[in-house]
Amino acid sequence: MRNNKKVILTGASRGIGEAAALLLAKKGYDLFLIASRSEEALKSVRDRILAETDVCCECALCDVGDALSCEKVFGEAAKDGVYALINNAGISSYELMTDLSPEKWHHIMEVNLNSCFYTSRLVIPSMLKEKKGKIINISSVWGNVGASMEVAYSAAKGGVNAFTKALAKELAPSNIQVNAAAFGFIDTKMNAHLSAEDKEVLYEEIPAGRAGSAEEAAELIVHILESPEYLTGQIITMDGGWT
Ligand code: NAP
Repeated sequence: MRNNKKVILTGASRGIGEAAALLLAKKGYDLFLIASRSEEALKSVRDRILAETDVCCECALCDVGDALSCEKVFGEAAKDGVYALINNAGISSYELMTDLSPEKWHHIMEVNLNSCFYTSRLVIPSMLKEKKGKIINISSVWGNVGASMEVAYSAAKGGVNAFTKALAKELAPSNIQVNAAAFGFIDTKMNAHLSAEDKEVLYEEIPAGRAGSAEEAAELIVHILESPEYLTGQIITMDGGWT
């Protein structure tokens, strides 16, 4: 059953974003889905939603790490108002910090952190008019505690956490909630570089003894979306007890 609330969801072509798109559609949210390159996969998520539910679902390619690309696409995405923005698109990177080039550092910051600024600034004006809205940023436990060999990613997600808390304070008087979900190890393509042995080592470190699924991550995102309006400025961690 449609609820006439529109959600813009980035990084929707696979992984956590795809699972969140499918769950949100089942719950009746209209969707505008974004990815930067994987057009076929993105359209196939959209087509599945249109075939299986009665919600409106559009999609477009947009590099959320590029301010101009966001301005072009969000004009269309946000034209009839936006109930919620979910900043889920992200990229990881695994190397010694001394092997990281300044260009790669900036790219990781652009896609994981600056994107939250580029997209949020484009939806907030219509949320302010309605005195209603939700922004959910997808963060990582490494933003909370830091990870060796992932200094840039950890710094970007730490920035996402601080961005979330600060923007929540700025927007709470206007009844707009800003929260983040910080995930531990979720079994998606982002971790496809890990061998079965690498994963087993990680599972030994995780008290729950396994990775979380994209569907579990999607459930938490929807819980945050549907939580009472008094919940704002929080970094909600889901990591099987890992950190
Ligand atoms: P994933 O499977 O690699 O999916 C990433 C999604 O983001 C894809 O749809 C990708 O599509 C899109 N994307 C990447 N760069 C983009 C850009 N510049 N502009 C727009 N879209 C872009 O990753 P995931 O595991 O689902 O991760 C989703 C979020 O959860 C990320 O923010 C990640 O940091 C966070 N997270 C993941 C884990 C984990 O263990 N998996 C843990 C903690 C946090 P294109 O490639 O077509 O752009």
